[in-house]
Amino acid sequence: MPPTNIISVNNLSFRYQAREVLNGISFDVEKKDYIGLVGPNGSGKTTLVKIILGLLIPGGGSINLFGQDISSFRDHRKIGYLPQKVPAMTPRFPATVKEIVSLGILVDKKFPKYIYKSDENRIDEALALLDILNIKDRFISEISGGQQQRVLLARAIVNKPEVLILDEPTAALDPEVRERFFAVLDHLNKDEDMTILIVTHDIGSIGKYASKLLYLDKRIVFYGSFGDFCLSEDITNFFGEFAQHIICHRHH
Ligand code: ADP
Repeated sequence: MPPTNIISVNNLSFRYQAREVLNGISFDVEKKDYIGLVGPNGSGKTTLVKIILGLLIPGGGSINLFGQDISSFRDHRKIGYLPQKVPAMTPRFPATVKEIVSLGILVDKKFPKYIYKSDENRIDEALALLDILNIKDRFISEISGGQQQRVLLARAIVNKPEVLILDEPTAALDPEVRERFFAVLDHLNKDEDMTILIVTHDIGSIGKYASKLLYLDKRIVFYGSFGDFCLSEDITNFFGEFAQHIICHRHH
């Protein structure tokens, strides 16, 4: 039997009232893909992610998650999500690293919501994986922006999701911390077999890490490997050599 796609999008369309935002979107995400989702501001990237997460209902077309139609998909633990802006991260929010990560477990529980020993172990595992176990009892207000971002990533992966979806996770990080964050994602993808879909403006870096590029502009302009993107004459014609070069120059 061929492997089931993790995500399968078929002729998806979406509109906010009169404004059409996505049209004729079809693509498949396979296990262990690492996809960079890029495109201009307002091209529908966040909308697409929200639809996949079940936060918005598709206007037309269909989406399958793990072989199941999205309307009946309930196993949300399989999908980890790191949003663009996290309201809980106001500087004075009085929570420890451990408490923030435990929220990733609690959202899944019915009342009464207790953290058990086995949950504690999962929290420690996620923190260790991201190399922040040593700051487990610190308040999030006391740690650096790069560490905060790792804590949120730990929260997103504490349920061991099969796919991790990130929306502009590195926008607020300085270049060195950003590179380290990408290295962590690389590790999750290569060593932990996590499938990754990342919305990013960081087109200069993403080619170093992602294996596929999904270029969106309300429709799919390109979806495929970086190698194909960089060799494609259609893409050179569409973007011009300069823009293509920015995306491709650091890709090995
Ligand atoms: P991107 O993430 O690529 O910047 P978005 O998916 O956020 O794009 O937005 C796509 C388009 O939809 C934009 O033109 C945006 O202004 C519009 N849009 C986003 N959210 C809403 C909303 N809640 N209501 C109406 N229009 C929206």
